[in-house]
Amino acid sequence: MRLLLIGAPGAGKGTQAERLAKRFGIAHICSGDLLRQHVKDQTSLGQTIESYMSNGDLVPDGVVMDMLRKPVVAAAAAGGYVLDGFPRTVEQAEASFPTAQALGVEVQAAVHLDVAREELVRRLLARRRGSDDTEAVIEHRLQVYLEKTVPLLEYYAGREWMFTVDGARPPDDVHEDILARLQKLSDFGTWTMQATLRLRAPGLGGRPDGLQDHVRHGTGSRDHGKVRRVHLGDAGVRGVGHG
Ligand code: AMP
Repeated sequence: MRLLLIGAPGAGKGTQAERLAKRFGIAHICSGDLLRQHVKDQTSLGQTIESYMSNGDLVPDGVVMDMLRKPVVAAAAAGGYVLDGFPRTVEQAEASFPTAQALGVEVQAAVHLDVAREELVRRLLARRRGSDDTEAVIEHRLQVYLEKTVPLLEYYAGREWMFTVDGARPPDDVHEDILARLQKLSDFGTWTMQATLRLRAPGLGGRPDGLQDHVRHGTGSRDHGKVRRVHLGDAGVRGVGHG
């Protein structure tokens, strides 16, 4: 399963990405965390991007894409990823699409976490402890989101594989909503059911409803190559469909 989480700073991307990663046994790849680690380790990349990060600006596209390529490809090979923080602009989506498609690691669904600005500010101010974000930097990060990432949402709008959930609710509710929405996408019905079964019945033994056989024998769409292909940044055909 290959997912994107899109949302403003403070929308809960990290929290939801972590839960989805656990639920589906896929990797959580957070561009912000990887970049912050470079700054912390003072790698040459870290030194290059430090001022962008502390000002709340986006780092150059090439830097982020080069950094993500390896982990994304590795995660896709190992079962999937939930990508938190990338793409953040239309340019990033367009630029990464051909590579992702060529490698067969393109995204299958995108989740937009929608949270009102006042709530974002409240959360970001509350979480400021431990970070050196000033109020001005927080404001700037939200402005950058409006200017750069909202157009990405508009660019994706109307695509069947992208949906919006209300991110202002408690994390459990948001998580359940995301699962329910994923289940409605034909690609993911089987996946979400498998994850639910794994949680409810480790070992999958003894269910009278036959569902465990479905799982055990791998008749899900994932195993039979019937998964619809959807493409990041592809302005044209969205789904190749099930036959
Ligand atoms: P985040 O933790 O996702 O809010 O990201 C923290 C910071 O990392 C951002 O303010 C940017 O400076 C940088 N960053 C993370 N992801 C990207 C991206 N896809 N493109 C450019 N900069 C990014």
